Amino acid sequence: MSLGSWLRDRPHFLEIVYKAAENFVTRLDPLISWIGYDRVERLITPPEEIAKEIVFDCRMCGQCILHSTGMTCPMTCPKHIRNGPCGGVRGNGHCEVKPEMRCVWVEAYERSLHMPIYGTEMTQLQPPVNKSLRGRAAWITMLTGEDKEVPAGWEGISELTILDADHTCWFSSQEE
Ligand code: SF4
Repeated sequence: MSLGSWLRDRPHFLEIVYKAAENFVTRLDPLISWIGYDRVERLITPPEEIAKEIVFDCRMCGQCILHSTGMTCPMTCPKHIRNGPCGGVRGNGHCEVKPEMRCVWVEAYERSLHMPIYGTEMTQLQPPVNKSLRGRAAWITMLTGEDKEVPAGWEGISELTILDADHTCWFSSQEE
């Protein structure tokens, strides 16, 4: 087992680390703004990429929603789906594109159940990924608000949900 998969199977620990990092970065925002977002981004992009690749197999989409997806990177889905599993999940919970791989969304769902801080964010509908942010440091796009910009017609989308509050919607519908 790799260090990354060992850590991903400890989602509560990861969400605590994420929350601490988010608070820290947000507090630093005035200083980062004063130095210049571009300058700071050039400095933090390489370490962010290395750390998140080791832990999450990150693809540097620049619009990180890990905490909303069970600390499981949705971009590792072969179809890059940001809103739950496609219709091709195998009966054993594996991917239809890569049969040897567990479905990213099955893992995200399971892990979200062990996340008392962010777990309910699995119910939020995610807008399409903004490909113009690819390669950017997600901590910076979070501070500048670029990660919240959505295509026309998607405004207010984060208030919509794709799962029941008890997270059963996907799975109950599959059983019907
Ligand atoms: S959601 Fe984007 S930034 Fe976050 S781990 Fe996945 S590819 Fe990286």
